[in-house]
Amino acid sequence: MRIEAVLSLGGNFPETPELFRKLPALLAEEGIDLCAISSILRSAPLDCPEGTPDFFNAAAVVQTALEPEALLDALQRIERKCGRPAEHGVHESRTLDLDILLYGKRRFVSERLTIPHPRALERDFVMRPLTELGERYVRQLRHLSAKTPS
Ligand code: ADP
Ligand code: MG
Repeated sequence: MRIEAVLSLGGNFPETPELFRKLPALLAEEGIDLCAISSILRSAPLDCPEGTPDFFNAAAVVQTALEPEALLDALQRIERKCGRPAEHGVHESRTLDLDILLYGKRRFVSERLTIPHPRALERDFVMRPLTELGERYVRQLRHLSAKTPS
């Protein structure tokens, strides 16, 4: 069964916007179809060392038959192919960062993966491109991120 997932794209290398444009082909090699992509938002770095270049961000809707962790594996292979080392500091400059914001209507928590992405709601550079893709994704993210009432 194919599931609709929503990704957050980021990076702060000069080649990052070009990598975003190559994403349909990179995803296709992993059996992931790109259905929609937002425009590219450019923003000043937050909590980064002085001299860190501006970040580029976007969001994308994809369709895939991959289960959540297999999707993360595929995205991390693409990141490495685009020159990002496997071991990586949180605030370090990166060519390409691919995060999973939503995976259908599912919540998913494991040691290496949390969906919805736990920091998405507090990041303007994630929420603005997501809003451009559709308010329904913002509602879904809020709904799934909210704690289940006890
Ligand atoms: P960030 O994306 O927060 O800038 P990284 O890209 O360095 O940081 O990711 C660090 C780790 O976050 C990844 O190795 C991955 O295992 C984990 N992770 C947890 N939830 C997610 C998610 N929803 N999407 C992508 N990575 C995730
Ligand atoms: Mg990431």
